[in-house]
Amino acid sequence: MNSIFVDKFYEENNRKPKVNITTFGCQMNEHDSEIIMGLLSERGYEATEDRKNSDVAIINTCSIRENADKRFFGTLGQLKKLKENNPEFLVCVCGCMMQQQHIIDELKNKYRWVDVIVGTHNLHNLPKLIDNIKSEKKKQIEILPEAVEMIEDLPSKRLYAEKALVNIMYGCNNFCTYCIVPYTRGRERSRSPEAILAEIKKLVADGVREVMLLGQNVNSYKGELEDGSPCPFPKLIRLIDQVPGLERIRFMTSHPKDMSDELILAFKECHKLCKYVHLPVQAGSNEVLKRMNRKYTRESYLTLVEKLREAVPEITISTDIIVGFPGETEEDFQETLDLVRKVRYDSAFTFLYSIRKDTPAEKFTDQIPEDVKHERFNRLVELINEISGEKNKQYVGNVEEVLIESISKNNKKAVAGRTDGFKLVNLEGDESLIGKIVKVEITEGKTFSLEGKLI
Ligand code: SF4
Repeated sequence: MNSIFVDKFYEENNRKPKVNITTFGCQMNEHDSEIIMGLLSERGYEATEDRKNSDVAIINTCSIRENADKRFFGTLGQLKKLKENNPEFLVCVCGCMMQQQHIIDELKNKYRWVDVIVGTHNLHNLPKLIDNIKSEKKKQIEILPEAVEMIEDLPSKRLYAEKALVNIMYGCNNFCTYCIVPYTRGRERSRSPEAILAEIKKLVADGVREVMLLGQNVNSYKGELEDGSPCPFPKLIRLIDQVPGLERIRFMTSHPKDMSDELILAFKECHKLCKYVHLPVQAGSNEVLKRMNRKYTRESYLTLVEKLREAVPEITISTDIIVGFPGETEEDFQETLDLVRKVRYDSAFTFLYSIRKDTPAEKFTDQIPEDVKHERFNRLVELINEISGEKNKQYVGNVEEVLIESISKNNKKAVAGRTDGFKLVNLEGDESLIGKIVKVEITEGKTFSLEGKLI
């Protein structure tokens, strides 16, 4: 069917069906939602922020972030009311949580009114399942236990005009003991370098200036060129660096054990590769790192940071840290604080450990009491904020190139953008600046952002 309207009702009422997507979790999920919206746009749907007035609501779930289950079922509860008022309203759920059997069981038992359930490996089938439910009038469930093929050339409705998310690989082989991703997203699969380059060239032709290469563990990317030769991640970066018109390359997330000397050299030599790295450490104690199955030590991590800063002195570094992992003693936690003091991160995402069902750490008996976790968490956040505030103050007087992304959240007469080092900068300006890379003098360094003025 080539009609832009998916069914007669909308045609007769001279309007497009409206879809509201709620996305939980990481940038991989954000990009999946962009693809879902791209696929649905091709079928005549339009996006709406207004869930109450939508025809289809989609929840793209995450099983990593804290309280993910609560937030998911809370959102479902709100949708139930809309469904009761309008039985034609369709509710679809997808994403990582749908790869967990206990979630599917709960949906089948307690949320029978959910119309479409689809897993991570066949997300591209969601529009087809929505069509099916209209024709078959029965619930659609499609969960594949593992990926069967890598689908290329899926359309995507980007959140930003000037920057784009590009998946370079899927899945993870690392099995950190607290993490559910290898079970929900499957083993690592790398896209072909040629397909990635073709996508990036197309994005650049469409006005994109910055790409964020995505994967659960991008630096273990193992592509293969058409001639059969291997294309590890540093080589892929060098190939992307040559794409004319592209101005910035970023990637997320990297694993310290896969941060090779070649990749460090690429930071030094590839002009377009932003001098910023997110290098999740998770803990500063070797004992905890071992129990997390992180496959590096605090010493090797600190050496890595040293090497990165030696190669690129201006590089900015952020991290993830989990507080209160089972068995974490006060001494272990002190080692984390010590590591934070040594590295002096530009920023850090901190998490309170909480049990993820079906992970090895679920079975660890020495779980940490909540009050101890919270008390440690507060100490850690205080230290991190103090350091990032100090580091941001050092930028005052610098002239930075800033890619303007949007109108500032708190001030409609200001715009916000990112430096090469991923620092958030707010400055006076209007929407004519969005999408441009401008020179900005930094006038103030705050804890989480910089203030500046256009030069
Ligand atoms: S590297 Fe570890 S934390 Fe990251 S996705 Fe893989 S298993 Fe999860």
